[in-house]
Amino acid sequence: MAARSTHFPFMLFNEIDTPRWLPLLGQWIQRLGLLRTWALLCAGALLLCLGLAGLLLAGPTGHLTAALVASGMAAACAALCGYLLLRLVQHIDSTQRGVLRHATEDPLTGTLNRRYFLELVEREWSRARRYDMSCALLLMDVDHFKRVNERFGHRCGDQVLREIAAASVETLRHADVLARFGGEEFIVFLPHTDPLGALDVAERMRERVEALQLAWNGAELRVSVSLGVAALHPEHLTLDQLIHDADDALAVAKSAGRNCVRAGAGLLPGKPSMMNNNN
Ligand code: GH3
Ligand code: MG
Ligand code: MG
Repeated sequence: MAARSTHFPFMLFNEIDTPRWLPLLGQWIQRLGLLRTWALLCAGALLLCLGLAGLLLAGPTGHLTAALVASGMAAACAALCGYLLLRLVQHIDSTQRGVLRHATEDPLTGTLNRRYFLELVEREWSRARRYDMSCALLLMDVDHFKRVNERFGHRCGDQVLREIAAASVETLRHADVLARFGGEEFIVFLPHTDPLGALDVAERMRERVEALQLAWNGAELRVSVSLGVAALHPEHLTLDQLIHDADDALAVAKSAGRNCVRAGAGLLPGKPSMMNNNN
């Protein structure tokens, strides 16, 4: 496990490769206005071309050579402007991507952040409710994570969170939405998933994390997670209630000894509301 740290605000600025001439040009535009700056640049280019042609005409060079040099100069100015324009488009594009990433991603794990998750899932959830489609929610919390930090340090803890996020993503479908919900807790929204399917996914995630072989500075490290599962039910009037159910189930999983999956109340009517391989 490589020691790697990510400082998000700086990452954003590092990612955006600002051309050096851009702030300078920006200052001129601020000072003179867009039209005047443009007119000044055009006048500069024109003067350069005409000045060069005039110099050549005054010398022994013929008219044709002077005209050719002036045209070449004009073409070079046009090519330079074209390049600057393209560079500007590239810069705007990468800035937009950086801002979007900043607004939607968790900087540490690269999963969605809590705010964007809630925004995204709120829409999915209300659609599922309106059209009576099944959907489920998982809350996953790393077991005894404080001990990992205490024993191996925070940088190791950070890397463990990254590894867990990556391993979890691998067990999910493309349509499932994983986010870091806070601290060492992750949340997963499973669209078009019935309760049994959700339990299955939760168990797969638990097994996947349990099987992770991690090492930090030569020392071996094992982690486990506990998961709470809740599925959409007619009594759930808000997304918050669904999350609340999953949170309750997670608390049950913790008190049942950790490294296990527990289902929210009423998830599987007539079936045991639990799933656990270890306890
Ligand atoms: P439990 O099994 O009951 O969940 O125990 P726990 O130790 O995992 O839970 P607790 O809430 O006591 O501690 C959570 C720890 O997670 C404390 C906090 O420092 C750590 N933590 C939260 N966010 C981060 C993070 O981004 N990086 C690191 N390295 N540690 C974090
Ligand atoms: Mg924990
Ligand atoms: Mg926690």
